[in-house]
Formats: sequence, C-alpha cells, structure tokens
Amino acid sequence: MAKRAFDHLIKGGRVIDPATGRDEIADIGIAAGVITAIGNIPAEDAETRIDASGKVVCPGFIDIHAHGQSVAADWMQAFDGVTTTLELEVGVLPVRDWYTRQARARRVLNYGASASWIFARKQVMGGILPDPGKHPMEMMGEGADNRGGWSSDSASAPQVADICAVVETGLREGGIGIGIAHGYAPGAGIKEMSEVCGLAARWNAPTFTHIPFMANTDPRSSEESYIRIIGLAAATGAHMHICHLNSTSLQDIARCRALIEQAQSRGLPVTVEAYPYGTGSTVVSASFFAARDFPERTGTGYASIELIHTRRHMRDRDDLLATSAEDPAALVAWHFLDSAQDRAHQELLDLSVLYPGGAIASDAMPWVEPDGSLYFGEDWPLPRHLSSHPRSAGTFTKFIGEYHRAWGKVGLMEAIAKCTIVPCRVLEACLPAMARKARLQEGCDADVIVFDPARIAAKASFSHMTAPAEGVEALLVGGMPVILDGRLDTQSRPGRPLRGGGAAGG
Ligand SMILES: [Zn+2]
Repeated sequence: MAKRAFDHLIKGGRVIDPATGRDEIADIGIAAGVITAIGNIPAEDAETRIDASGKVVCPGFIDIHAHGQSVAADWMQAFDGVTTTLELEVGVLPVRDWYTRQARARRVLNYGASASWIFARKQVMGGILPDPGKHPMEMMGEGADNRGGWSSDSASAPQVADICAVVETGLREGGIGIGIAHGYAPGAGIKEMSEVCGLAARWNAPTFTHIPFMANTDPRSSEESYIRIIGLAAATGAHMHICHLNSTSLQDIARCRALIEQAQSRGLPVTVEAYPYGTGSTVVSASFFAARDFPERTGTGYASIELIHTRRHMRDRDDLLATSAEDPAALVAWHFLDSAQDRAHQELLDLSVLYPGGAIASDAMPWVEPDGSLYFGEDWPLPRHLSSHPRSAGTFTKFIGEYHRAWGKVGLMEAIAKCTIVPCRVLEACLPAMARKARLQEGCDADVIVFDPARIAAKASFSHMTAPAEGVEALLVGGMPVILDGRLDTQSRPGRPLRGGGAAGG
C-alpha cells in the first residue's frame, strides 16, 4: 500500500495562529515532523487522525523560564501545553556538558539553556567550579557562604574580564543568550553589568535578568532595578529581557510597568514576562531573604517563606539563617502577594500578567523528594509525595483557564499569543530554530497542541502539587505525539536541543 501523504492529521479543530491572526476551522496535516498542509484534508490521506472538533488547535507553548529540566518536569509541563522549555534566567555552565546530559536523559520537550553569568561569577570570584553532574538549582546552593565575596562584592576589572570570558565560552558552546540572576549577587555593579551586557550586544543575544534589588522603598528599590536595566539596554544596545515582572516589582507593579512601557515606546530593546501566581519560589539561601531589613523592604514577613519539602514556614531571621546553613539549596515558596484573599493583590498580579506584549513564562521549579533532594525518576503519574510549585504544572493552563475562560480579561487570540509567538520573538535574534516555532503554518515544526477551551485549567495547588493540568488533549513535539486523548505516552521522547547562534556570533 502506498505511503499516505501525512503521518498525522488533526481534523476539524479551531486553528488559532497568533503570528498571522488565523482563526478558523481547518485540518492540519503533519509529515516528517513538519506541518505540510492546512485546510480541508481528506481523512484517508493520513496514517493517524486526531479528532479536534470543538477543540482549539494552536502552537505548543514556549516557556522561556523553566528550571525543572528533567523528564518528570517535561511531563508535567506537557499537560500545561508546553512543547519547548528553556532554562534562561539562571542558565548553565559548562554549556556543552549540560546539553550532553540532557541528550542522555532522553528529554520529552524541546530544551535549551543560556550561558550563566552567576555561575561564571561564582567560579571567578569564589573559586566554585560548576559541576556538570549537578542540576543548576543544586549549583545555586553552592557557595552560600559567599566565599570570595562572589555575591556581595563588586568585581575588580580583571575579574570582570574573566567573568565575561567564561560567559562568552558558554555562548560559543550554544548558550541561548546570557542568564543574569543578578538578584542572587546584588553586589555586582554597573561597570560589570555594562561589560556583560556589551558582550550580549556583540553576540546579538538577549540577557534574561532577575533584577538586582527587590524592595518597595529606596535605595535599592525594585524601581531602581528596573531603571538600571532600561539604562543598560539604552547604553549597551543589549536586548534586556526582565524575568517575572509579577514577583520582582512587589507592590510597585504599576510603577514598574509604566517604566517598561515608556522604555518600549522609545524603542528600547526591553521585554518582560510574568506568571499568574502571587507566590514565588527559589533557594532558601537567596541573599535577599537574608538581608536584615527584608520584612521592611518587601512588605512580607518571615512566615511568607515556606520550605517546600516540609511545608514549614520560617519563624524569624535566625530560623531562616539556620535553615539556609543546613541546606542552602533547599527550595522555598515565597508568598509575596495573597491574590486569593486580597482583591488589591489580584489587581497587582493582573497588571503584570496582562501587560500588553508581555510573555507568560512559568519559572517552573524542579521536583523535590521529601528529604529535599531533586527527583530525576520517571514514574508516572508523578508520585504524590513530590513537591515543587504549582506553577511547574499549571502556569499556562491557569492563565488561559482563569484570565480568558473564567474571567474574560483577555481574548483567546491574545492569550495564546502570550504563550507562543510573544516568547518566541524574544529569542528569534539569537536562536535560528525559533523561525519555525510558535506558528501553525506550512513548513513550520509540528509542535502543536489540541486543547478543550471549555475545560482547560490548572489543577496543581500547594496541597496537591503533582496534579497535572486538565484540558490539553493532544500534544505533539516535532510531529511526535506525547499526549493523545489526554493520555501521556511515557515512551515518547521527541525533545530536541535548541542552541543559540553560537559559532556564528562573536
Ligand atoms: Zn527563576
């Protein structure tokens, strides 16, 4: 029998492609991992058919802020509609080793990482060599004693040169831009940052910044941080992407949002992202928690910091410091806004999540065992005793399920754009593969999802974090089904590495 024209046919769905504004009932034909036809396609032309009637068919979501980076993390994100998941804020080192490790892990979703500034700084100033066997979140806990002043001090001119050289090697090895987790080394000064951003500009590579200071009050306020980043974009020409507008501008979201708007209206290369939760997550040793005036500066108390694997809230600063000394890489949830109880807090969250032209990005965290160690197993369903942050399983579905379906605060086209073409465009300059992603068009990669617009919803909560999201009924990565009829195929491992312009730049 002759081979049929298509490997898969997605039949009769509402095809939404924000890149072109297309929104119509159509069939999608997929062959050899690529979308090869869109229109009215006879069912007999395909090997397999996915009935999408009554469902939305759109590009898979591009998550530009994802720390999970494991098979288990991929599976949870697949149910959240994600087909590409990138570690860009913290980044990795050495870049080449990290990609090798992911290939061995047989990833499910497309993956990639930036070159890490923070690990370069730890290496150069603290003598803490990146361990390729460690997960980036484990590396974040290394050197919590601030040896060499890597976190608190400004770097000397030779140190800055060395840091830039290490980062540049990461770019050469395929790092997708530069991850600048500045908030974890607030001592880094403008002279260093202008060099690092100058490097990014020379490589035409974006930076992904966690702002240096988070506070509602000057000096070292969130506003000061935003203005610094805008200034760096203007002065160096680097594309400055600002991570999680929602969690770093605290109570000053309106003001920080206005600053970004002004900068963008002047043509400066500044972009933002947000996730729809009023709770953040990071390592317990993050320097901003340890600052003496943390409660006054952030408007939150120590009880807002909750150890993920034990669900224990910190009592006071001594408790925090002791916990951090014991296990600096332990993950915590930080409840900075109470959007469920406080309407004003929900409105603050909305300002960041609905920022026009802003991406949705999860900041998904790794999955953690009850003893605090990271989980790299491949059990499915994910064992109930594992913990993370609900955003690791429900960012995009929560955004569409609440902001679009339940609350009507955003149209479906715009909602999907914020999960697909908007984050894609942040990366296009340095990541050639992005030209064929986040689009339902002939010739583009078949990273496609089918979801039920009446059912799409996040299910993970702080009391049940491993609950997969609902509503994503089919998910294909490079034309290979990972989810069909709402069921996961644990053997399907189509994830491919995405590498930055690398050798072409510099
Ligand atoms: Zn993050």
